[in-house]
Amino acid sequence: MAETRVVPEVDRAAAARKAVERRRARASLKRDLTTRVVAPQTVLRRAIADQDSVEGSMRITDFLLALPAIGAGKRDRVLEDLHISPVKRLGGLGARQRAVLEEWLDGRFPVLRPRGARSRLLVLAGPTAVGKGTVAAHIREHNPEIHLSVSATTRAPRPGEIDGVHYYFVDDAEFDRLIEQNELLEYAVVHNRSRYGTPRAPIDAALDAGKTVLLEIDLQGARQVRAAEPAATLIFLLPPSWDELVQRLVGRGTEEAEERARRLRTAKVELAAQNEFDHLIVNENVADAAAEVVELSSSSAR
Ligand code: 5GP
Repeated sequence: MAETRVVPEVDRAAAARKAVERRRARASLKRDLTTRVVAPQTVLRRAIADQDSVEGSMRITDFLLALPAIGAGKRDRVLEDLHISPVKRLGGLGARQRAVLEEWLDGRFPVLRPRGARSRLLVLAGPTAVGKGTVAAHIREHNPEIHLSVSATTRAPRPGEIDGVHYYFVDDAEFDRLIEQNELLEYAVVHNRSRYGTPRAPIDAALDAGKTVLLEIDLQGARQVRAAEPAATLIFLLPPSWDELVQRLVGRGTEEAEERARRLRTAKVELAAQNEFDHLIVNENVADAAAEVVELSSSSAR
């Protein structure tokens, strides 16, 4: 009688679990590509470094389709132009195919080139809920040599917030006055609600005293600072993954479905602005992200 090989129950269960994990990781990677949380060039590099990784086993067709603004038609034309077979996986590309794909990616998704000249005016921005406030608070506590700008806002203080430390809490009339007297370097309405602005005088004083100044502001504010002070160093804080950002944004589940959807749409639009910045920092954990910001500040002070 022929011997039948029986796969032990535990192995089968473990294999099934692994397959599910793998599918999840692949889906999560696609979301990271679509939302620009990860650069396609980084994914390609990882795929080549390890063929068996999630990146390495990704089909070239899925990879291209996950990129922002690439549909099926465009994907097929690109594959034809680059002479890459649609059955290929990223980790299985030949040297020539890799080279042409990399060149195409660089043309379409330019990689940030850190600027050589740096100013002592640093701006930290990023999508909603990425944790810029926490990173800034960490720097306030551990790096007193850096002047952290205190913004003016029309929103009410939260429990524990101190006027003059976390914000200058002002009313609408006072905010109008600050704008009229040109006392704000930038200002914006954030989350369609309150107004926030950066008082100009303390920043000028700190810069004149040779200090590094850090602004933790929203995207609209960062753009205004760039226009007013083109030499400012703009830093964009990224989440470790899109799924992680979603968790941080909607995880508490206290908002209505419509509000959650609105926040996610906003986050996608905000992530798409990252190429306007000089540096990208991934907020894997607060202490490391803060250290990277401080690193930029000390090199900028030189
Ligand atoms: P929160 O009300 O939670 O403290 O801050 C809400 C948002 O306002 C954050 O994304 C923060 O970056 C932004 N923000 C804080 N201060 C300023 C500011 O002076 N200017 C601008 N444009 N945004 C600010």
